[in-house]
Amino acid sequence: MKALVAGGGIGGLGAALALAQRGHEVSVFERSSEFREIGAGIQLGPNVFRMFDRLGLRAEMLALAAIPRALVMRCAMHGHEITRVPLGEGFRARFGQPYAVIHRGDMHGVLLRACQAHPRVRLNTGQAVSGYAQDGNQVTLTFDDAAPATGELLIGADGLWSRIRAAMLGDGAPVVSGHIAYRAVLPMAEVPAGISRDEVVLHAGPRLHLVHYPLRRGELMNLVAVFHSAEYSEGWDQAGDPALLARHFAATRPEVRAMLERIETWKYWVLCDREPRRGWVDGRVALLGDAAHPMLQYLAQGANMALEDALCLADMLEQHPVEAALPAYEEARVLRTGRVQSIARLYGEIYHAADVRAELRDAMLAGRAPEAAWEGMSWLYDGPHWPAP
Ligand SMILES: Cc1cc2nc3c(=O)[nH]c(=O)nc-3n(C[C@H](O)[C@H](O)[C@H](O)COP(=O)(O)OP(=O)(O)OC[C@H]3O[C@@H](n4cnc5c(N)ncnc54)[C@H](O)[C@@H]3O)c2cc1C
Repeated sequence: MKALVAGGGIGGLGAALALAQRGHEVSVFERSSEFREIGAGIQLGPNVFRMFDRLGLRAEMLALAAIPRALVMRCAMHGHEITRVPLGEGFRARFGQPYAVIHRGDMHGVLLRACQAHPRVRLNTGQAVSGYAQDGNQVTLTFDDAAPATGELLIGADGLWSRIRAAMLGDGAPVVSGHIAYRAVLPMAEVPAGISRDEVVLHAGPRLHLVHYPLRRGELMNLVAVFHSAEYSEGWDQAGDPALLARHFAATRPEVRAMLERIETWKYWVLCDREPRRGWVDGRVALLGDAAHPMLQYLAQGANMALEDALCLADMLEQHPVEAALPAYEEARVLRTGRVQSIARLYGEIYHAADVRAELRDAMLAGRAPEAAWEGMSWLYDGPHWPAP
């Protein structure tokens, strides 16, 4: 089949590669003038390593990733450790896969090189999709400023503000969470003493948190500081105000503030998601990744889910004609991605709890055995599951 992919992010490139590996001819259309990923770190659960295995990208991803020792939650106000989930041998034995962290650019670069090297993938930049039309077995993809393209299948992987979703569902703008994320990277040599360098650490406080973890084999520290704010603006690449961040974190522990003070240049994101819903398929058009099921990042799974979608869609196309494959894809994915969307919101509340709720959180998590923590995540990390071809 001749497939069209709108958007060349992690989901779009993953889908292009998965389809090309199964013999389809794929054209990707990316709005930006080059294929690249902005932003810093991505956490990789065991579930996405199963997708890397199937795409043949495991070794390359692992060569660029770092394996943290543990996921740790600390109190941003009093400094005590709330809970710790070890990620070493026991975790790997339980899930058969590692937990890793990687630079977004590195992850996207691995997918991009695999697509560039594949004879059945055509990559187009500087082409902003605007909508689509269908006629019989043919889909026409339209652009703001270029001649239309035609194919037998269209995948809308154009992210949170998807134009393909708008054309398909017309269900308006995403839901603004009221949470803002400031992101930056710090050379590891500049990380203050006393800060863990080989773990994913989340400092949780009322209506805020700071996460940090190592990137690029420990050369960099990735920082994401989140706080509640009514501010609203679109986009992925805006300059954050360090003074505003400092005000929100003024009551946190000195080690938390010391990390934030080392950063001069922040980028910020207004975090949005949507209610889970069905209806990501229209004839020969399917949504994928954030276009289908945007989620808050509190489970660190958006990119992981986009790659699961990509493999699922390719598998369904191998088993059914396209008219049946796309609904089967949505059916196989909607409850899993809806669960991640829903639980990500809940995790945000748990991280940002105040007063008695924070005490309750700490009491519930205190003394939890690693095995209990792993079992709590098994619904996510044991997956994904769908009928194999
Ligand atoms: C603060 C933060 C931390 C996160 N941490 C993690 C994490 O640890 N782990 C994880 O798995 N996920 C994480 N995520 C989520 C993850 O970034 C997204 O879920 C993931 O990038 C979605 O991939 P996608 O390909 O669907 O969309 P995108 O990455 O948004 O890609 C969409 C692509 O489409 C292009 N595009 C947009 N409009 C058009 C158009 N009109 N025409 C053509 N092209 C277009 C864009 O330029 C882009 O290249 C995080 C997100 C945030 C905000």
